[in-house]
Amino acid sequence: MRAVTMYGPGDVRAERCDDAKILRPTDAVVRTVATCVCGSDLWPYRGADPVTEPVRMGHEYVGVVEEVGPDVAAIRPGQFVVGSFCIADNTCANCRNGWQSSCRQLDFMNACQAEYIRVPYADGMLVATDGHPDASLVPSLLAVSDVMGTGWYAAVAAEVRPGSTVVVVGDGAVGLCGVIAAKELGAERIIAMSRNETRQELALHFGATDIIAERGDDGVAGVQELTGGIGADSVLECVGTDESMEQAVRSARPGGNVGFVGVPHDVALASHELFFSQVGLRGGPAPVRRFLPDLIDRVLTGRIDPGKVFDLELPLEKAAEAYRAMYERRAVKVLLQP
Ligand SMILES: [Zn+2]
Repeated sequence: MRAVTMYGPGDVRAERCDDAKILRPTDAVVRTVATCVCGSDLWPYRGADPVTEPVRMGHEYVGVVEEVGPDVAAIRPGQFVVGSFCIADNTCANCRNGWQSSCRQLDFMNACQAEYIRVPYADGMLVATDGHPDASLVPSLLAVSDVMGTGWYAAVAAEVRPGSTVVVVGDGAVGLCGVIAAKELGAERIIAMSRNETRQELALHFGATDIIAERGDDGVAGVQELTGGIGADSVLECVGTDESMEQAVRSARPGGNVGFVGVPHDVALASHELFFSQVGLRGGPAPVRRFLPDLIDRVLTGRIDPGKVFDLELPLEKAAEAYRAMYERRAVKVLLQP
């Protein structure tokens, strides 16, 4: 089969490798129908995370079950399935509490930019749809497997409620999906922070009511101006840099909440400022599995269309071009067709 390997910063290759196969009795092998490049794949690509040996890439997938191990009971060959990027059994105490991204067995999916993938704990990981969805819905179902689930978690963690005023920091795919989540959860005002015209338009399409292009002090001043000098009830931090975290905390009102889902890179919050901000913080890898059934339903019934974050589709063998397009910000997110 063909799969994508990163050999070092800027060096991504789609090449032939051994087929994915069942290794444990609870595994499934899934033939991918679509996969994609994640913003987090760009951290090693741009050299911000080390690449010490060749590593198989990708953790987002939808596909059709090809084969299951002898202990898999709920998932069957032929089913169309959506899964998350966190490997979780969905049975331990943390999973039962809805924190599958803190599963006692936690690990992270990789090697999903491939024609076939091995999914551990298939019964816990995978959610099957009724029948095979229309091809037009595949991008949105793929988005649910990570960016939409993560944007949803950011909004839940930031405690978005009907009538809330929300700020979304970050205009990548997760931030844009955060706008969708805030709207679905009833936010009245959604302020998207973006200085990219295409992304601003997409944010407005997804339900943003205001755009702030400025950053830093000017960005905070913009939020204050739009919120009567108070700040936002909820802030979704979807980047993971020190600047974006500071932007998020300073955009929230006293008593407001920040949901942070950008993987932190050198974030150092000023404890004194945080203390006096009275802002609540919750973040981490999103427990996407908790939200999968609901989000899949919202996609299948046409309520949400997060697949619009994919503004470029390429065959899997053009993975190198896909990474380059996202790195150069020519594309928000690239869907790869196996
Ligand atoms: Zn678990």
